[in-house]
Amino acid sequence: MTSRTVALDSALHQYLLDITLTEHPVQRELREFTAGHRMAKMQIAPEQGQFMGWLARLIGARRYLEVGVFTGYSALTVALAMPEDGEIVACDVSETFTAIAREHWARAGVEHRIRLVLQPALRTLETLLAEGRAGQFDLAFIDADKPSYRDYYEACLELVRPGGVIAIDNIFLSGRAAAPQPEDPPGVHLVHAFNASLKNDPRIRQCVLPVGDGLTLCTRL
Ligand code: CA
Repeated sequence: MTSRTVALDSALHQYLLDITLTEHPVQRELREFTAGHRMAKMQIAPEQGQFMGWLARLIGARRYLEVGVFTGYSALTVALAMPEDGEIVACDVSETFTAIAREHWARAGVEHRIRLVLQPALRTLETLLAEGRAGQFDLAFIDADKPSYRDYYEACLELVRPGGVIAIDNIFLSGRAAAPQPEDPPGVHLVHAFNASLKNDPRIRQCVLPVGDGLTLCTRL
């Protein structure tokens, strides 16, 4: 027995996937296609995708906001977990990566649920707020450039409804976030400070799951 999360070696990770993963065929194709990409590390772990789909269903998510799309696996996962009238606003800046996303969303038949906006995400979040969409989203996922995490979080906190969830990815930064070194880039120091600030943020309730590269979950109070 153990009083802390066990480390996953390759065999145990494979076992975890064997007993839990229930992917749509297009999800699997997209994951395997992206695994061969030079930026493959930017794709969420499959067990994290399984969790996000489960979470979306648990809270009955109908409106989902994604900051950082890459090749679209997480958006596809949540889209498949949504009812027919579900709406996703997906923010990214890369035409190249999101072209892969679009192709797979279409093949899975969920592209009509996803509005992809290609411009700096903060601009999209500010536009949504200006359009009166505050408090309308059930779930937000922040998985983009780390120096902007604080700004994304503040905007998402306004855009999700009370009881809604904000999930924040890569909060461990492969372990570097725990004890930033002077030579680390500013993003490491910023994520370190951001992580520390959430514990006593009176606007939320939070927990951290040691899945993937660390996932913080916040519910808006
Ligand atoms: Ca990530």
